Amino acid sequence: SSAEHRRRSPRRVGIMGGTFDPIHHGHLVAASEVAHLFHLDEVVFVPTGRPYQKDLAKVTSAEDRYLMTVIATAENPQFSVSRIEIDREGPTYTIDTLRELRRHYGPEIELFFITGADALGAILSWHNVDELFDLAHFVGCNRPGHRLTDTGLPDGKVSLVEVPALAISSSECRERVRKGEPIWYLVPDGIVRYITKTGLYLDAG
Ligand code: ATP
Ligand code: MG
Repeated sequence: SSAEHRRRSPRRVGIMGGTFDPIHHGHLVAASEVAHLFHLDEVVFVPTGRPYQKDLAKVTSAEDRYLMTVIATAENPQFSVSRIEIDREGPTYTIDTLRELRRHYGPEIELFFITGADALGAILSWHNVDELFDLAHFVGCNRPGHRLTDTGLPDGKVSLVEVPALAISSSECRERVRKGEPIWYLVPDGIVRYITKTGLYLDAG
């Protein structure tokens, strides 16, 4: 039967890493579109613990970012959230996460690491690029304000895809909250309410 076939097929799992400070509709549309384009069974959102590229003092507590990610993804049965990075000690490196997920799921799973154009551009500067590409297929999504070119990226290891373009960033959402401007419709309703309830970003720089 086709149900049986589906059960025996290797599972295809998307990994959406991010600081999610806060999670917004740009993240959610990218994950949803890549899930559709690559026939993914599920997408796991992985909030970063201590993003090594970002100034720690300016990043919201991992617990708030984790909870917002859970709130934003709760209604979608294909989406889940992992604590793998926020529970790990020390700075966050994507390669540790991919190794751990690969150990967790076993060799028969196919991993798809989903990034926006800006983040994909930074991949080339990461350590162990060859091992990264062995662990997962990389999917780069267009993002307004960032150009994606395929120069220098290994053949067959990276796909560049078009997702509906949403010019939304977490930085801009934080800035809008600080200035008293609305973030309705840039982030899910539950995220607006969580930010209001907790007073997040009111005095953030
Ligand atoms: P910040 O402004 O704080 O850097 P951000 O909006 O870039 O936040 P991140 O958590 O840094 O959000 O991004 C997580 C991942 O989602 C990255 O791969 C990033 O490129 C991607 N991404 C973020 N916003 C968009 C968007 N509007 N469209 C497509 N991809 C996006
Ligand atoms: Mg960013």
